[in-house]
Amino acid sequence: MPELPEVETTLRGISKKILNKEIKTFDLRTEKLRWPIDKGLKKFLKNKIIKSAERRGKYIILHLSESHLLIHLGMSGKLRVFKEQVPSKKHEHWDINFVDGWTLRYTDVRKFGALIKITSDPEDHKLLKNLGPEPLGNYFNGLYLFEKTRKKTRPIKNLIMDSNIVTGVGNIYANEALFLAGIRPRKQSQKLTKDNCNNLSQAIRQTLSEAIEAGGTTLKDYTNATEAPGYFKKQLRVYDRGNLPCLTCKTNLKLIRQANRQTVYCPSCQK
Ligand SMILES: [Zn+2]
Repeated sequence: MPELPEVETTLRGISKKILNKEIKTFDLRTEKLRWPIDKGLKKFLKNKIIKSAERRGKYIILHLSESHLLIHLGMSGKLRVFKEQVPSKKHEHWDINFVDGWTLRYTDVRKFGALIKITSDPEDHKLLKNLGPEPLGNYFNGLYLFEKTRKKTRPIKNLIMDSNIVTGVGNIYANEALFLAGIRPRKQSQKLTKDNCNNLSQAIRQTLSEAIEAGGTTLKDYTNATEAPGYFKKQLRVYDRGNLPCLTCKTNLKLIRQANRQTVYCPSCQK
């Protein structure tokens, strides 16, 4: 599943080929991803120019002249750009074709992604307006996390995965960050000290930044005409390593379920 680093890497990978370009045509080959796709997009997008693009949480926002396109990759969505004439295959649901011959193509096997036209301020859109701060932005820090954890009894892992608290910290990075910060995933949020919160906010930034850096090496795949890029291999310290030895202390890592998601932690390094 694409998490924040994949979305960021995707955005960087496609940006150079789509920015400041005029849209010639929009081809739609499915009626519905997570939600039905606006059939009027074909007419609406013609001659629009993509002025800029940004990521908000796990959403990509393409800014047009006076409107916006909101893209979410869902469980398995992928974007790529190419210039050749390449017939679409199964699961390749839409293309934005530019006047200069380049195409932005969306592939999604499980069809949980989204493509939504927004004509008002995107920050007011129902999918975006309640999102918490960006984990890599300045607003998210130890003090913010300390305030948000007060009087909260729910486990800290669930809290940092709540997009209203901080946006885009998925299961993999929640596991990794808690390990780096030395905090048990089931620890009650309100029991975190100021130091804990500083360490955890730093750890969240570090794990996401490392993954974006690792993904950067695969940027060239975003212009592969014949195949959508795979998600990059992450260097993980605990996630998917249940019952394997801790990389720091060699204690066997514990595997539990939390909110129906895989949680792995080191019973010795994480308190
Ligand atoms: Zn350990």
